[in-house]
Amino acid sequence: MPRVFVSDFIPGDILEPLATLAELEVWSQPSGGLGVAPQISPRVPRQTLLDRLADCDGWLSMLSDTIDVELLDAAPKLRVISQMSVGVDNIDVEACRAHGVSVGHTPDVLTETTADTAFALIGAAVRRLPEGEEIVKSGEWGPWDPWHFLSGDLHGATLGIVGMGRIGQAIARRARGFDMEVLYTARTSKDVSGATRLDRPGLLERSDIVVIAVPLADETRGMIGRAELGLMKETAILVNVARGPIVDTDALVEALTEGVIGGAALDVTDPEPLPPDHPLLQFPNCLVVPHIGSATVPARRAMASLAVANLVAYFRQKLMPAWLPGSAEQPPGDYSAPGSPSESSDS
Ligand code: NAP
Repeated sequence: MPRVFVSDFIPGDILEPLATLAELEVWSQPSGGLGVAPQISPRVPRQTLLDRLADCDGWLSMLSDTIDVELLDAAPKLRVISQMSVGVDNIDVEACRAHGVSVGHTPDVLTETTADTAFALIGAAVRRLPEGEEIVKSGEWGPWDPWHFLSGDLHGATLGIVGMGRIGQAIARRARGFDMEVLYTARTSKDVSGATRLDRPGLLERSDIVVIAVPLADETRGMIGRAELGLMKETAILVNVARGPIVDTDALVEALTEGVIGGAALDVTDPEPLPPDHPLLQFPNCLVVPHIGSATVPARRAMASLAVANLVAYFRQKLMPAWLPGSAEQPPGDYSAPGSPSESSDS
């Protein structure tokens, strides 16, 4: 029986198909159950990973695991990794290929949820909801004043989407309902109704809201820095639902300090988590939430199901439903009936 290490709690009903095929070691379990546990379970220490993976054939990993050459060298039997996220910036994919390790991830099943989060951040930041709540809670709420606490409009705004992939397109679909003009950048042109492709400077200059939805990679690290923020409108809002290091944090702090842009709404930051005394947290017009883009019960169950389905398919010598291109091809086997996630792939 293959041995599989699982980096975090996975609900028992979802893990079951894998438990019948493999000997599992599951790292930890939140006491309150999925979606209700307020506490964060501790991440697997690096040394534990190095020790436990030494005799594992498979691994269900999390984006908090750093998957590099050292770790792959320490895991000579490892043949397959399935990560419970779509983003794989924590994985050295080339090294996996070189070590003969196939990688799966969880695209699609979190797309709509993450786009919902992006839109919640956009609405909250444009209409200054956190600032308004602060005024109410601090007792500064005075009589109704027609010229007090104004913002821009959400409807009819120009939305610039940096990265028009699965999540970018789901954000664009929502923008249509708000009569927004949608601009986008991507490496290749997309057939998205009503959306106009621009170069990055053009998008930054014209947008009232800029939302980041590209993967973190060498080419996108620091993609939004001082020069790019300087191109944005003084009233524009920057929204990041992708990965923190795509935005240069120091440049963003500087831009908010000097009023170069109107505000920011961040689901992801660099570093993550942000320490409570971090400069980004001092701005009333900078909304920060703790990387909850796909944190709904249905999305997390669907992600867990797909992560498990990748491993089940691999060990049954079927094609993984979400194999990551660039990682090792699956070894020869009976691929007549592809594996499929045990739950709907669209949540
Ligand atoms: P995707 O479908 O692969 O889309 C990525 C988009 O980025 C594509 O349009 C791609 O262009 C574009 N792109 C890639 N490199 C680029 C570059 N150098 N310059 C300009 N555009 C570039 O990925 P997705 O499923 O939408 O997810 C995007 C990212 O969101 C993930 O990688 C993950 O890091 C993040 N994410 C975060 C959360 C969260 O909890 N906050 C949840 C889910 C995902 P082409 O199509 O032309 O290649």
